[in-house]
Amino acid sequence: MLKIGCHLSITKGLLNAAKQITSINGNVFQYFSRSPQGFKAKPFDKEDYLKFKEYSKENELQTILCHAPYTLNCCSSKKEIRDLAKIMMKDDLDKLEQMNNVMYNFHPGAHTQQGVNTGIEQISECLNEIVNETTKTPILLELMAGKGSDIGRTFEEIKEIIDKVHFKDKIFVCLDTCHVFAANYDIVNHLDDVLEKFDKVIGINKLKAIHLNDSKMPLGSYKDRHAAIGEGYIGKQALINIVNHPLLKDLPFYLETPHEDLVGYKQEIKLFQDNYKY
Ligand code: FE
Ligand code: FE
Ligand code: ZN
Repeated sequence: MLKIGCHLSITKGLLNAAKQITSINGNVFQYFSRSPQGFKAKPFDKEDYLKFKEYSKENELQTILCHAPYTLNCCSSKKEIRDLAKIMMKDDLDKLEQMNNVMYNFHPGAHTQQGVNTGIEQISECLNEIVNETTKTPILLELMAGKGSDIGRTFEEIKEIIDKVHFKDKIFVCLDTCHVFAANYDIVNHLDDVLEKFDKVIGINKLKAIHLNDSKMPLGSYKDRHAAIGEGYIGKQALINIVNHPLLKDLPFYLETPHEDLVGYKQEIKLFQDNYKY
C-alpha cells in the first residue's frame, strides 16, 4: 500500500486533520508543530490525541510527520535565536514523545555568515542537548535547496551533522524532491545514481520520509520554490518513478505542493495511487 498524503493545518486539532486526509483518500499527513513563521505553540491536547489515535487505527493511517517552524535556526550567529531553537525543539519533542507513529522533521538551519563548519557544529550540539537514550521519536534532518547560508544542501553536510550526534541511531533524513533537485541532484535523469550516492554517503537506511514536490526552478538553481505535480521542472513521470523506486516505495510521501484547497491534493494523491505498481 502506498503511503501518501499532504501537509495539513492542525488548527482544529489532529483528529480533524486525520478526517481531512481520509476524505481525500490519503493515509499520512504532515503538520506544523507551531506557527511556521512564529514561535507560538498550543499545549498538547491529550483528549484530541486519543481520539486521533483511535481514528487512525480504524482508518489505517500511517506515520505522521511533524514539521518544526521555519523560524527555528540551531546555527544562527545570534545566541538568542539558537537558544530559542533548543527551547522550541525540546517543547515539540516533549509533545511528540507522548504520541505514537510520529516523526519530527526540521530544517538544519542557516549559518548566517558563521561558515558551514561552525553551523554543522552548532546543529549537532543542539541535537546533543535534546536527544537522549530515551528519545523514541525519529528526528529527521531535511535536505535543503541550498539558498543563502542554508546548511544541508549536500548529502555530505547531513552526514557530518549525524556523525557528530551521540545518539545517531535517533537521527534520520527527509528527502524533499524539490530541494534536492534545486541542489543539483538530478533525480529526473539519474535517480539511481542519486540514490546510490545517498547510500554511499549517508546510508539508505537513514532515509525515513519523502517530501513530494515539483520545482518551479531548474536543476541546480539552489532556489526553494515548490510547484504542483507536473507543473515544474521535475515533472509528473519523474515523480511517479520516485514513488515506485524499489528503495523508496515503502516510505511515506508527503505532498507540500501549492494548492488553495484539498481538491488539488486529492487529485495528486490519486495520480500517484493510480500509478503505483505494487
Ligand atoms: Fe521543510
Ligand atoms: Fe520540504
Ligand atoms: Zn521547500
